[in-house]
Amino acid sequence: MNTVQNITVLGSTGSIGVSTLDVLRRHPDHYRAFALTANCRLDELFEQVMAFRPRYAVMRDESRAEQLRNRLQQAGSDTEVLAGTEGLVAVSEHPEVDQVMAAIVGAAGLLPTLAAVRAGKRMLLANKESLVMSGQLFMSAVKESGAELLPIDSEHNAIFQCMPTDFPAGLRQSGVSRVLLTGSGGPFRTLPLDEFGAVTPDQACAHPNWSMGRKISVDSATMMNKGLELIEACWLFSASTDQVQVVIHPQSVIHSMVQYVDGSVLAQMGNPDMRTPIAHGLAWPRRLESGVEPLDLVQVAQLDFQAPDEARFPCLRLAREAMAAGQTASVVLNAANEVAVDAFLNGQAKFTDIPALIESVLGASTLVDAVDIDTILRADEEARVLARLYLGNGKA
Ligand code: NAD
Ligand code: MG
Repeated sequence: MNTVQNITVLGSTGSIGVSTLDVLRRHPDHYRAFALTANCRLDELFEQVMAFRPRYAVMRDESRAEQLRNRLQQAGSDTEVLAGTEGLVAVSEHPEVDQVMAAIVGAAGLLPTLAAVRAGKRMLLANKESLVMSGQLFMSAVKESGAELLPIDSEHNAIFQCMPTDFPAGLRQSGVSRVLLTGSGGPFRTLPLDEFGAVTPDQACAHPNWSMGRKISVDSATMMNKGLELIEACWLFSASTDQVQVVIHPQSVIHSMVQYVDGSVLAQMGNPDMRTPIAHGLAWPRRLESGVEPLDLVQVAQLDFQAPDEARFPCLRLAREAMAAGQTASVVLNAANEVAVDAFLNGQAKFTDIPALIESVLGASTLVDAVDIDTILRADEEARVLARLYLGNGKA
């Protein structure tokens, strides 16, 4: 690499965003933060801008953008501050940007992520919700623009590393028989079922192996995260749901595997630290030091595997059914989940209401085939309205 690459980090104040900046900080000769963005954490974004001196910073709403602008001006910074989806899209498709880290959480990441794909950037995709919501549209846009799609979700990054280079030709043609998608089982893997109704947001967010944002932490506790990842894997690797087997692996040392027709199984291993997939995506096909501790297998000592328990974790079944039912079902699944998780985190719903609400909203939604962005956004909005209505009526 002889030139310094410009990187836009969408969601730079989040868990993935901060890990990304940690990797960038180690390689100033190769990478430069071009744009950093945040929802509402103004102080964090201010500190990041002062440390990384990006060309642009984006805040979600104009009033916070104005506050940031004033503070930066007083501090002598020449970073330009933009606002809203328009600002996010502008820094995603900017001609001087080489790579975009899509690390906004939830549906809010869809439009800027798609903008970066359409502009043909190297996409470091952490925001799985955008692919779940727009699978076909997203993958066609990648093909049309020639964007390079590097999965950052640790499982999909592992699968990518274990895949043959010709996998876009089709899994079977490449000699792949199955993808083995591993998951830790989350904090409630062994919790008695009758205690699920009383779990608190802090218990749900205390993941045994990974430190993550609160939404994905709750998704891990319900195993909706594995459900969204199943859908994500199907789109990324042109796999059917039958070709993806979910395997519970409590130690989170193997990040996923690819099984071949000759009986070989390739696994990618490492400590559970997102800086590994981030560094892999940034430097691919090269390798880069990420700051992650080397894996000590003797210390790990044991690797366990189990089948997932879908009676305990109905979200996994709901996601598989949604993938089979078509694009709108995935949009509805994701939207209802976001509303339910938000309500749970705010004390307005029980943990067990989450799958119940999603199932109710899926059952009541009209599932047309959403292949264009307007239909997708409308289906997303309608599912949110319905989910909030059900929550209000206690119908979850
Ligand atoms: P997080 O909550 O820690 O951070 C989210 C980021 O998005 C923040 O910078 C926030 O300011 C921004 N954001 C939130 N809502 C926004 C909005 N409406 N408009 C603009 N910006 C907004 O989340 P995270 O754990 O870093 O996860 C980010 C994404 O990466 C998610 O899609 C998650 O599923 C995925 N992911 C995370 C991990 C992990 O280890 N944290 C692993 C795999 C995949
Ligand atoms: Mg993951």
